[in-house]
Amino acid sequence: MPRVAPAAHQEALRRAGLPVRGRLADLFALLRASPDTHLRLAEVAHMAAEAGLAATPVEIDRQLKTLADHGLLSRLPSTAPEPVFDTVPEPHFHLVYEDPAQIVDLDVSPETLFAILRNALAERPDSVEIMVRFRAIRSRPRTQPSGNGASS
Ligand SMILES: [Zn+2]
Repeated sequence: MPRVAPAAHQEALRRAGLPVRGRLADLFALLRASPDTHLRLAEVAHMAAEAGLAATPVEIDRQLKTLADHGLLSRLPSTAPEPVFDTVPEPHFHLVYEDPAQIVDLDVSPETLFAILRNALAERPDSVEIMVRFRAIRSRPRTQPSGNGASS
């Protein structure tokens, strides 16, 4: 069944220089519709299978990397063997819990972030790690010829 991505998704894909229709666009729409914003490949592959997207995990892995390389997803720094992709590509704050495994977005002001950090350090001084990530300055993505997804 042909799918049509919402206009906002098509515009984001167009601005990134990616095809607005096809398997990559279908996957992007699926990711944007997900209530979970931090996803590993296995989770995305499961979501894609449930949604009826015909793609192997290898293809999905390549599509996720393409979306990340074009700024439509971000990759969370991780020590896990498998990358975690973030469907919110703009820089934002995270709390990462190891047990149980959970990543939480913090949509707060810098002042609130500092209060959260002070509280976490006071409550769990031996188990809090803080990492500040400085993202690379992203150049404008190259325009690619239209096609049917990222596969070649
Ligand atoms: Zn996030």
